Amino acid sequence: MASVIVVGAGINGVTAAIELKKRGHKVILADPGPLPHPLAASTDISKAVRTAYGADEEYAALAERSIPLWREWNRQFDTELFHEIGFLFLRQHQMQPGDFEFESLRVLEQEGRKVERIDSATLRERFPAWKAEHYRDGFFERQAGYVKSGRVVALLIERAKSLGVELREGNQFTGLDEGDGRVKGVLLDNGQRISGDLVVMAVGAWTPYVLPFTRKFFRATGQPVFHLKPRQPELFASERFPVFGADISTTGYYGFPLSRDGVVKIANHGPGREMSPESPERAVTPQEEKDLREFLSWTFPTLTDALIVYKRICLYCDTRDGHFWIAPDPERPGLVVATGDSGHGFKFAPVLGEIVADAVEGKSNPLLEKFRWRPEIRPGEAKEAARFTPDL
Ligand SMILES: Cc1cc2nc3c(=O)[nH]c(=O)nc-3n(C[C@H](O)[C@H](O)[C@H](O)COP(=O)(O)OP(=O)(O)OC[C@H]3O[C@@H](n4cnc5c(N)ncnc54)[C@H](O)[C@@H]3O)c2cc1C
Repeated sequence: MASVIVVGAGINGVTAAIELKKRGHKVILADPGPLPHPLAASTDISKAVRTAYGADEEYAALAERSIPLWREWNRQFDTELFHEIGFLFLRQHQMQPGDFEFESLRVLEQEGRKVERIDSATLRERFPAWKAEHYRDGFFERQAGYVKSGRVVALLIERAKSLGVELREGNQFTGLDEGDGRVKGVLLDNGQRISGDLVVMAVGAWTPYVLPFTRKFFRATGQPVFHLKPRQPELFASERFPVFGADISTTGYYGFPLSRDGVVKIANHGPGREMSPESPERAVTPQEEKDLREFLSWTFPTLTDALIVYKRICLYCDTRDGHFWIAPDPERPGLVVATGDSGHGFKFAPVLGEIVADAVEGKSNPLLEKFRWRPEIRPGEAKEAARFTPDL
């Protein structure tokens, strides 16, 4: 049994803390709070859950494992956290080999998943908010949807506390406590030092700022998110308007059906703007809003002039190849970094803790090779990943 300090109580940190506690370790979970932290990537009304992952069969399999566990969490927490309403992936042109959508469909069919091919005529008939003539091809993944991510984190924090994880809310991590050739704990902004055998840094987009030596691996990038109030809400109910990717590799746009509060969330996945999560630049620009309006008029005509009731910049922690980074630091024994979601990590929440805990315990897990410490990845490879992987 080890004493483990998990820094950051977003989805990575809280799931890691729970799993480590279940495995018998003494666990402290530290975050400045309030929790769920309003600036955290995990704190949002919705995050997409899908198993479509282009040609990447490892992520597809991991997402497939997560889906029954999301259903199980709905039962355990006795509330609908996972809304299994399906995911519509569309392209403006015919899907071609090498396209994200084409490759996803190929893998899903190979795995026997429930998918339907969608053309303009079907789109017009079943999903009337869409300007069907602009989207010619695609598919509908039935066993997919979205989760209420902020609510998920809030419930998991309660679960962590009830299992005996010691929550230290209120202070920021300021540095690693290093000595005798290893990491011995963490330092907080109130001058306190917490000692532990192992430290897990799960601070998402804050990672390159609080651990400056990781700047060569991670970039925090801001992406715009909008909540719109539709004039014809009936067009955006989940049965007629499931979670979607609107030719995402080309437009970057994806979104969610009408929420209980009557808003449609639409966001853009793109290269983003590099910034710190606490930067004053963290605000949606007029250009980002203009781009959204253009997309809406091309895709959802009745939303073109819809009122934007909320907007936000949410930050990815990008790695150069778009894959998670869940690995012990070879130069700092005692430190494990768990981040690098590159904008698509939430859906794996039910299995994340186990991957991080395996990294902490040095257990073998085939995914830890993919998510290893990999300074050798060069920036050019990131562009390829970003082009082909709609990270949501
Ligand atoms: C716009 C956007 C859309 C996304 N859409 C999807 C989607 O549809 N589907 C999907 O699966 N994933 C999606 N993601 C990705 C998903 O949100 C992330 O993978 C996930 O939330 C990352 O969780 P995290 O715990 O690593 O980081 P975070 O949730 O950001 O948590 C980091 C925590 O670290 C804490 N912290 C920061 N600094 C310190 C410090 N100094 N000391 C102590 N604690 C600190 C913060 O307070 C915070 O609580 C999206 C991300 C963004 C930005």
